[in-house]
Amino acid sequence: MANLNTLEKIRSQSGPVKVHHAMMQTGNMAIAALQKPMKNLKEYAMKYKGSCHCGEIAFTAEGELTQALACNCSICSRKGTLLWFIPVTQFNLLTPRDKITVYTFNKQVIKHQFCKVCGVQPFAEGVDNKGNTMIAVNIRCLEDIDPLAIPSHLYDGKSL
Ligand SMILES: [Zn+2]
Repeated sequence: MANLNTLEKIRSQSGPVKVHHAMMQTGNMAIAALQKPMKNLKEYAMKYKGSCHCGEIAFTAEGELTQALACNCSICSRKGTLLWFIPVTQFNLLTPRDKITVYTFNKQVIKHQFCKVCGVQPFAEGVDNKGNTMIAVNIRCLEDIDPLAIPSHLYDGKSL
């Protein structure tokens, strides 16, 4: 009888442990399943067309546009840009650079670029903390999207 009781005890103790282990495995599988399509996303990444108002600046921007930044720094607040950061490799300028004016201020790290003809700024160029050149696309200049439907987050550029 004592042996049976001990067996029962072991069973009841190992039970939850087994369940927990199984859940961990299921969890890992779920994560793996989530990672798989993420890996493939780049292949199916959306390509967006963008331009200034007059069309002297035109470009394509590739990637997953899921969020934008509304920056409160002195220049962004004046322009009202909504920015989407992508690596320069996902950006393709379709027009010559001669209609682009580059404006820098403060630490001169971000090259704000705007059209000499219509004055619209469709993108800016900068370098991230890993040294990669990044393009800040002004999503208000992209075609076929509703910029206000893209979730935007406040970026406190004013405090930098
Ligand atoms: Zn223009």
